[in-house]
Amino acid sequence: MFQSAAIKLTAWYIAIIMALSIGCSIALYDTSRGDIIHNNNRRLPISVNQYLTPDDLQSLRTLRDKQLNADLNHLKGRLISFNILVLLVGGGISYMLARRTLEPIEESLEAQKRFTSDASHELRTPLTAMQAEIEVALRDPKLTKSQASELLQSNLEEVAKLRALSEGLLSLARNSDKPVINTPISSKEALNEALARLEKTAQAKDITVKNSGKDMTLRADHHTLVELLVILIDNAIKYSPKGSNIEISSTAQNKMGKISVTDKGIGIKAVDLPHIFERFYRADTSRSKANAEGYGLGLAIAKKIADTLNGSIEVKSAPGKGSTFTISIPIA
Ligand code: ADP
Repeated sequence: MFQSAAIKLTAWYIAIIMALSIGCSIALYDTSRGDIIHNNNRRLPISVNQYLTPDDLQSLRTLRDKQLNADLNHLKGRLISFNILVLLVGGGISYMLARRTLEPIEESLEAQKRFTSDASHELRTPLTAMQAEIEVALRDPKLTKSQASELLQSNLEEVAKLRALSEGLLSLARNSDKPVINTPISSKEALNEALARLEKTAQAKDITVKNSGKDMTLRADHHTLVELLVILIDNAIKYSPKGSNIEISSTAQNKMGKISVTDKGIGIKAVDLPHIFERFYRADTSRSKANAEGYGLGLAIAKKIADTLNGSIEVKSAPGKGSTFTISIPIA
């Protein structure tokens, strides 16, 4: 599809270039032709004219006409060669330009296709599991009440996963086109709200979250910043062993407020680090996939949020030792 679009666009570019080139060539030919004819018709000086016989004059005129035609043909030939050159060079450049123009559209369409196919793949897995369980249960005439309630419990878990997935997908779609209004907000308040939301999750794993560092006035959207902090702290809890500590620190540097979340968890391998902010990417360590639920959407959302807040997000990690995720948000 993009190949034929590139060819069509190239044809348009060439048509415009050639219309200009041929128009200019015709104008140039007309002016030059007028000049050549004018020069050719110039009379010979009387001093020369008086020594020539009418026959001489006639041969001279014939010679001049021949010269005129030769000059005009030469000019025509040069203009035609010039236009062929413009066609060839312009054609090549036009094709390159057309490909360049279409490249970002092609890339975004490819990304959209990948996203849709990844999303439907992720949706299909829990749906297939639910369908299989329900079908098996329906075919069993001796299904007891406790077995039925076990099935419902398992289905409920799958539904919760599907809900989390659809919320993640919605969040990614929403963040991409909804502009956030950044106002001065307190980093401490945002952190406290994020910590309050995750209190129970941390308690369940007996994890202590130490929050140190000063309060900063950041230019951001409060709810969006809380959402970003929740993703990072939630991951820190998710990928940390029971009973460990998580540290949160805040510092101001070069007009940016930096908030770091450091855990002593499983860490991330160097090969995975460049990919963890991609949608649906999950580091393939048996521990991270088996023990922690998720769809690999959290950090993609976090990155998108950091971008919308005119900030950035970076990570330092060592497998087996832990990770530090740092966000930088403009100070108000
Ligand atoms: P999810 O946690 O749902 O898998 P994320 O996008 O939040 O998805 O994270 C992507 C991957 O990055 C995770 O699967 C995990 O492998 C890795 N990761 C993220 N945060 C941490 C962390 N604090 N410690 C170790 N690994 C992490």
